[in-house]
Amino acid sequence: MASWLIRNAAVVTMDDDATVLPKADILIEGTDIAGVWPAGDAPREQHGTRTIDADGMVAMPGMINAHTHCAMTLLRGYADEMPLMPWLEERIWPFEMKLEEDDVYWGSLLGIAEMIRAGVTCFNDMYHYFEATARAALDSGIRANVSGVLLAFLPDAGERLENAIAFAKEWKDRGDGLLVTMLGPHAPYTCPNHLLDRVIEGAHEAGVGIHIHVSETKQEMEESLRDFGQTPVERLTDIGLLDVSPVLAAHCVHLTDSDIATLVEKSVGISHNPGSNMKLASGTAPVRRLLAANAVIGLGTDGAASNNNLDILEEARLAALIHKLDAGDPTVVTAQQALQMATRGGAKALGIDDRVGRIEPGMKADVILLDFHQAHLFPRHDIISHLVYAARAGDVRTVFVNGRPLMLDRQLQTLDEEEIYRQVGERLKRLVQ
Ligand SMILES: [Zn+2]
Repeated sequence: MASWLIRNAAVVTMDDDATVLPKADILIEGTDIAGVWPAGDAPREQHGTRTIDADGMVAMPGMINAHTHCAMTLLRGYADEMPLMPWLEERIWPFEMKLEEDDVYWGSLLGIAEMIRAGVTCFNDMYHYFEATARAALDSGIRANVSGVLLAFLPDAGERLENAIAFAKEWKDRGDGLLVTMLGPHAPYTCPNHLLDRVIEGAHEAGVGIHIHVSETKQEMEESLRDFGQTPVERLTDIGLLDVSPVLAAHCVHLTDSDIATLVEKSVGISHNPGSNMKLASGTAPVRRLLAANAVIGLGTDGAASNNNLDILEEARLAALIHKLDAGDPTVVTAQQALQMATRGGAKALGIDDRVGRIEPGMKADVILLDFHQAHLFPRHDIISHLVYAARAGDVRTVFVNGRPLMLDRQLQTLDEEEIYRQVGERLKRLVQ
């Protein structure tokens, strides 16, 4: 069993009190965090234990991207500055019609390389050719929740749904617990009730959760009220979708007070995606009201076509900033709350908070180290403040997932980036004509 001892790090535990240990040692044994001690107090190193001297570094739980479409890295910068519906209908969906399975595999690896470099150790994905994304995740060693996207307007929607259910059943236990499968109906407005009914049935059959976009735009809210006489949340409640566990609802920008009460009562996980919401001008999610109601909130980047990166540290900063601006109040959405969303909030939203999201003995060793020995991170009055308001993705130096190093001293250990760039470049010649 491989073991690693991280010495002398400042440790942001993200425990209930968001304790920061000024100088501590973390022992990783196998897949788990075996212990955390004040620096120097760790037991004597066993033969074969590898040691990292993390003096000047900050250790924290790996961040969780609670909502993305990883292979949309292929569309980064392909269509910017358009309203959501023309953006989807005229640019994104036609491009996606040309995708082949291997395009999604290499696009997913590109996104995974970017996320590992940004200290993201788990992502929640919904996309076409979901098996390719699952393979990419397993090949890289990152933790992933994967679901196939279901859109009723596709000619083979029924077949795709059955394939997605079969995938959810067959792949759910692969990868030593790193891979979690879900079902991914795109959104209430792209999925009629008969399709959602089968999704709910399939989720119960397979014993998996559901990942869905909910109340992203004002138009979605208005059309739902016009066509169903219900908000999207009311409609999903009515058909029993929110009784599946877990449900990850992405966006939740336009919510009534009653919708918020329902999401809390049903323990629905919410992915707040401030970068995407700002870029697509979808609105400002009611995060202050959600926090006040004790809703379960994580942070997501959405796809790289609407962000345009997969950097959760940046989303934490945006979350902490936009709600202050929106409220005209600098005290709302604190750095601690934003960092909590980026870590244990996301874990809870995905139903994996028993495994990840905190640095504590017994948790899976999804641990990242950031280099704080840099001008923009001096002096260290408040490490959590620095992480949210001053640090950058490029400060991440070392990344462990499930006890395995995926990046050491900024060197990726499981992926060949040059080969990924070459493959993606080749594929784009066919996709963009
Ligand atoms: Zn999305």
